[in-house]
Amino acid sequence: MRRVSILGATGSIGQNTVDLIARNADTYDVVALTGAGNIGQLAADATRLGAQIAVTAHEDRLEDLRAALQGSGVEAAAGEAAITEAAARPADWTMSAIVGAAGLAPGMEALKHGATLALANKESLVCAGQLLLATAKQHGAQILPVDSEHSAIFQALQGEDMTAVERIIITASGGAFRDWPLAQLADATLEQASSHPNWDMGQRITIDSATLFNKAMEVIETREFFAVDPDQIEVIIHPQSLIHALVGFNDGALMAHVGPPDMRHAIGYALHHPKRETLPVERLDLAAIGQLEFRAPDEARWPALRLARETMAAGGLTGAVFNAAKETALDGFIAGRIRFPHMAEVVEDTLTQLSGENGLIAATMTLDNVAHVDHLARTAAWTAIDKRAGQ
Ligand code: NAD
Ligand code: MG
Repeated sequence: MRRVSILGATGSIGQNTVDLIARNADTYDVVALTGAGNIGQLAADATRLGAQIAVTAHEDRLEDLRAALQGSGVEAAAGEAAITEAAARPADWTMSAIVGAAGLAPGMEALKHGATLALANKESLVCAGQLLLATAKQHGAQILPVDSEHSAIFQALQGEDMTAVERIIITASGGAFRDWPLAQLADATLEQASSHPNWDMGQRITIDSATLFNKAMEVIETREFFAVDPDQIEVIIHPQSLIHALVGFNDGALMAHVGPPDMRHAIGYALHHPKRETLPVERLDLAAIGQLEFRAPDEARWPALRLARETMAAGGLTGAVFNAAKETALDGFIAGRIRFPHMAEVVEDTLTQLSGENGLIAATMTLDNVAHVDHLARTAAWTAIDKRAGQ
């Protein structure tokens, strides 16, 4: 039996993973499921999958979780440290699907104990890519991409030689405001930003799709995962979200990955790798789809792409600044403190504020240093938010 854990089991990626595991529950030995506020879902899934342990990130919800698990035989635990401990329990395959920088430490722990890490939490690669990759190497553990674009690239690269790769193109739907007049973006509401034209995802990544900060993060993720130069990575707007990425080779060929916008494809690919297994996703009817469209991203609409390039050029711990600033700007927007276009301004402002701290950005990439930079960047980003609040 394969031992599996799901970090962030109650979220959008987590629930899709639970769905795939539950369909073949007798072939898996479920070790740990983690979540945060959704205690009922966490307890129900841990019970039906027969997990060893369920952990909530909220320390003050331990009693609620215990009560919900009563009689199930599933252990209950709570708090950040308990999540990291659960991630360290021996498993063959661990899904990293916590949202945000909070996913980094548990993912590292899973790698240290040799689990194959299915990585949806792109924030870990943006904050600390070199550290995560070095940890995997040191412990002989594998990281498999779950982000749909990176799964697509990974699949297009099977059997290929990286020296023949000229470029990698990742697609972006353009999100909720792709066709809005630029001047109207300042009036975009939280509700409008939280609805995606093609994908059903968590709220944070949905808003990040509208700003294209999600794509900006994915450009950095591509650089880290596939060790290509930033100028080999291109972004193209593709409203249908059916081609997820393309790899361009030195003979002019472009290998495109086409599939339905359903994360169970990428999760299932990572779950069964190196084999392919039948998955419960839609089979595309190309004749019914008719057309696929592409257009260049407009940098005035989406400054996030330029900021990602500046982040990669600055190097060191700048990725941790970028991610923390982006997460905080998003918190500010969700809290109603700033308007939609302010998010990119806050990130740019934070990058500028911290770029003078040479010693800090050039410090060795350790979990402590990443956490320190993350903290400073969040403080700087809140200052940048306060400057714009109510404007
Ligand atoms: P989500 O908000 O739906 O779920 C997040 C999960 O993390 C939940 O289980 C939640 O309980 C848990 N969580 C939240 N804060 C936490 C904390 N501080 N400590 C521990 N656990 C915490 O998010 P999602 O959309 O499923 O995204 C998860 C990750 O996958 C993100 O990194 C996202 O960028 C990435 N991703 C998501 C999709 C998608 O389709 N949703 C696609 C590609 C990549
Ligand atoms: Mg993606």
